[in-house]
Amino acid sequence: NKFEQLGLNPAILKAVEEMGFTEPSEVQEKAIPILLQEDTDMVALAQTGTGKTAAFGFPLIHKINAESKHTQGLILSPTRELCLQITNELKNYAKFTPGLNTVAIYGGASITDQAQQIRRGAQVIVATPGRMQDMIKRKLVDISKIEYCILDEADEMLNMGFFEDITNILSYTPIEKNTWLFSATMPREVATIAKKFMRNPVEITV
Ligand code: AMP
Repeated sequence: NKFEQLGLNPAILKAVEEMGFTEPSEVQEKAIPILLQEDTDMVALAQTGTGKTAAFGFPLIHKINAESKHTQGLILSPTRELCLQITNELKNYAKFTPGLNTVAIYGGASITDQAQQIRRGAQVIVATPGRMQDMIKRKLVDISKIEYCILDEADEMLNMGFFEDITNILSYTPIEKNTWLFSATMPREVATIAKKFMRNPVEITV
């Protein structure tokens, strides 16, 4: 099993086996060993359907400290559907990692319920930009100590007009975090975000 050579911990390899993934996809093979290293930023050009969720999700789950309850990872995604899909996948990846909680934050659902889930402890938050921004303003989430920020489908988020929300959300995160940006295309706005918020990102394309 080629997954065993990527450097992922046994709890994740067990989840990989249970999900029936026999071989890493191209984006996984390229991204995972790099993202497992200390202090890497990455820009990955990858379409949906390539296995990109696991390409950032496995290294994220690997790196989160499940014994500490504070929010360590933030994933921004363009839509509620994608947000729920990513959350679902991450829960599968973390099935054998006790104490690791992932919470979905998106518009059109009860903010009170989402705030309560956050209060119970969420090391990973998967959010749409509008609701995330709203919850930050109301001080219902604290992302001041996150270590990993993932911008998924960055081109889609920017197409949907989330540039300001994203910029604003990132201003509440520490400078020293690592940022992993995934996008199907690289229009100028995405390059601007990468330039503004990332340090020497490793670039991969699939
Ligand atoms: P994504 O591109 O992240 O939306 O993933 C597309 C689909 O491929 C999802 O249903 C994943 O569960 C599945 N998938 C991801 N990686 C693998 C893999 N290495 N082997 C088999 N299926 C995978």
